[in-house]
Amino acid sequence: MHDTTLLDVRGLTTVFDTANGPVRAVDEVSFVVREGETLGLVGESGSGKSVTALSILRLVQPPGRIAGGQVLFQGRDLLQLPEAQMRQVRGAGISLIFQEPMSALNPVFTIGDQIGEALTSHGRASRAEARARVVELLEAVRIPEPQRRVDDYPHQLSGGMRQRVLIAIAIACRPPLVIADEPTTALDVTIQAQILELLREMKARFSLSLLLITHDFGVIAETADRVAVMYAGRIVEEAPVRDIFRAPKHAYTRSLLAAIPGWTGGPSD
Ligand code: ADP
Ligand code: MG
Repeated sequence: MHDTTLLDVRGLTTVFDTANGPVRAVDEVSFVVREGETLGLVGESGSGKSVTALSILRLVQPPGRIAGGQVLFQGRDLLQLPEAQMRQVRGAGISLIFQEPMSALNPVFTIGDQIGEALTSHGRASRAEARARVVELLEAVRIPEPQRRVDDYPHQLSGGMRQRVLIAIAIACRPPLVIADEPTTALDVTIQAQILELLREMKARFSLSLLLITHDFGVIAETADRVAVMYAGRIVEEAPVRDIFRAPKHAYTRSLLAAIPGWTGGPSD
């Protein structure tokens, strides 16, 4: 398994034009995500993880700009697609789950409307069908009493429940790839574990591949198959998760691992 490449990022470079000159936030980044796997992208705050995710989906805003590279998804270079086709890729091909579940939802629409919008905007359901599909999705992400919750507004839900809504939106169109950018960082520890468990379950049930972005190696240990370590805009190490915990090669990787409570440094031989 995990043999077919789904996403192939090659030499991706994204620059921010600042008063002090261009800053290469993402600098010649290359990695692949294979079908059915979870690739963890780990690095400290400011290392370029979110800009990488936004670049893949061509959502970088000025003063940022993609300066080079390729983003091959199912054989097409997303950086070359017309914007209209790119809009179809977003959500239906690759969806993005953000860190902050409150700001990612619109406070003036019900969660049912917002999940339904994900379906109708991609032609996956008519307005009439949408509500029943939304209730199914709420069930899938294990929100209790979905028939009643569908009419709730975001502020009526806890942070963990809002993150479940965002996961429902992300999987609504059954995209092959979900990018989750620090999906549990804003949540309490017990809720974090539940959301990671839900992501694992959704991945298996809907045959997703996951690009899981985090600053927390503990999250990687529990969730990822392989890991790419990002530092100052570059990938400094890439390995199967088991290998990286046993034998991290890069000093920066070792310093990230040392931050995990209970990590003993692996075998010292
Ligand atoms: P991470 O998600 O790993 O915490 P980001 O991808 O958000 O980091 O940011 C990486 C780098 O990109 C930052 O350290 C900063 O130098 C640069 N950057 C991000 N957004 C902007 C911006 N709006 N203007 C200028 N530089 C930015
Ligand atoms: Mg980030």
